[in-house]
Amino acid sequence: MAATASGKPLPIGGEWVETGAWVEVRSPYSGDLVARVARAGAEEARRAVAAAERSLREPLPAHKRAEILVRVAGHLGRRHEEVAQVICAEAGKPIGAARVEVSRAMSTYTMAAVEARKLAGEMVPLDASQAGAGKLGFTLRVPIGIVGAISPFNFPLNLVAHKLAPALAAGCSVVLKPASQTPLSALLLAELELEAGLPPGWLNVVVGPAGELGDVLVEDERVKLISFTGSGETGWGLRERAPRKRVNLELGNSTPVIVEADADLDAVATALATHAFSFAGQSCISVQRVYVQRSAYDDLLARFVPRVEALKVGDPADEETDVGPLIDGDARDRVLAWIEEARAAGAEVLTGGALEGELLRPTVLVNAGPELKVSCEEVFGPVCTVTPYDTLDEAIDLANGTRYGLQAGIFTASLRSALAAAHRLEFGGVTINEAPTFRADQMPYGGVKASGNTREGPAWAVRELTEERLVVLQT
Ligand code: NAP
Repeated sequence: MAATASGKPLPIGGEWVETGAWVEVRSPYSGDLVARVARAGAEEARRAVAAAERSLREPLPAHKRAEILVRVAGHLGRRHEEVAQVICAEAGKPIGAARVEVSRAMSTYTMAAVEARKLAGEMVPLDASQAGAGKLGFTLRVPIGIVGAISPFNFPLNLVAHKLAPALAAGCSVVLKPASQTPLSALLLAELELEAGLPPGWLNVVVGPAGELGDVLVEDERVKLISFTGSGETGWGLRERAPRKRVNLELGNSTPVIVEADADLDAVATALATHAFSFAGQSCISVQRVYVQRSAYDDLLARFVPRVEALKVGDPADEETDVGPLIDGDARDRVLAWIEEARAAGAEVLTGGALEGELLRPTVLVNAGPELKVSCEEVFGPVCTVTPYDTLDEAIDLANGTRYGLQAGIFTASLRSALAAAHRLEFGGVTINEAPTFRADQMPYGGVKASGNTREGPAWAVRELTEERLVVLQT
């Protein structure tokens, strides 16, 4: 990337652009300056849209799009450690988890390349009706046009990959606005796409004030689709303001897990300790609410709490660290306040609930009522509640007792219980004998209710990024 002594410029229309103003990226762990990035405003955003429009005048054939996508996966592989270090530095993500994110982004690009090569319409049997006799009908999948992509801080590489790779597979150009706290992974990915042969204007990145940049994406009619991953308030607000665009939303969750007494409690305790606290709970599908059949409640807690206490809290760059910092002081203060609210209402803190240095220790709460924020809102921090239940029906009702619906899970040895949960849990995905934090990048991923209105995963995303055009041919 053409970084100057001052900081990193933005790729807009095939040039690396400086604006004279800067956004500072600071380590969530130490507060040290990691880098400065050129700060864009409405003018640069409009320039980016114009460049994206120009690029579409020369469509890229599917085989070229696929080749570029495969090359990006290769570049990510070659620069794997460097990219992981960037994620670790800007997001405060433990280095082990950052490496996993890089590997997943390689998978996202690889799967998108497959979709680029498979993208096709279908035959329409026109002679099946009298009106269509003598005619041949088929559909083409046509790129929807310019995509405005907005991404969050918590997977600063792979969630950007889930915007960029399917868009290129579908033949769309992109104006990307990454999270202001974590723009460096996105800029590195843009650099890799350009190195892989992406022509000018197909990908443009703007970093800066969210409202100002978001307004351009909402108001400019040339942007046909907004693909947003982040908080519900912002996402649903964008959708209301852009009724004529497609606005695809991937939002939050308050992730429940049901543990039946017949489950393998050691395996469950290990899975939950990892998936409630990795990246300090800052995943949209971090385990937050654990419902345990009453006869197994004490046994599960006896296995779970020591595993949580064994997690190492500390510097995300340290190879041994399991749990690092929250993204900033405001997030930490909010999570602490929610724990205090629960404590004041009678919840008991079995472990955690306090700071270790500047970092919040993994926290397990019991006796937390369903009306508390820790029970029904998205904590997005290293906190989980454990609650006993008597019947599976009751557990399913408790799990569904939230406005969110992204993913949920059940651990059980009973096929009947597993399938009952799969049918009745009101979520976009249900995992069985696996934590609901599971995501493979080719699977359809997305929520119902307040959690969103779309599915990501390249095969599903390219459908939404294309229009179906009917062709009728008189034979
Ligand atoms: P956020 O605050 O909503 O920010 C997400 C993105 O939206 C950022 O790029 C942000 O820019 C931008 N933004 C904020 N206000 C905007 C506006 N008025 N117009 C246009 N863009 C605007 O979310 P976050 O804190 O980064 O991420 C955490 C949330 O994302 C959680 O709720 C989590 O569950 C959700 N999430 C969902 C998924 C999923 O796939 N379903 C995956 C990961 C995360 P700035 O950074 O410049 O403010």
